[in-house]
Amino acid sequence: MTSKTFRFREYGVNPDETAAPAYQAVCVTGEEADCGADSKDQPDEEALTRWMAEHTSSTGHNRFRRARWDYATVEPGAWQ
Ligand SMILES: [Zn+2]
Repeated sequence: MTSKTFRFREYGVNPDETAAPAYQAVCVTGEEADCGADSKDQPDEEALTRWMAEHTSSTGHNRFRRARWDYATVEPGAWQ
């Protein structure tokens, strides 16, 4: 796990290690409109993979947009 501080003027953006990340996928299979099935927040990548595999198994859909959501805090003057 990398921990970096990015600076934008006098603000510091820091990863918030106190909150667990979440994993989410949305099915984007479809010609004219995406399927839109949403995994909602999953606690880890394994759970997300299981949700995707189950969706593919039951629908034949096989293309997803997925993301890892994590938390950050912004603190004025964090560079000091
Ligand atoms: Zn789908």
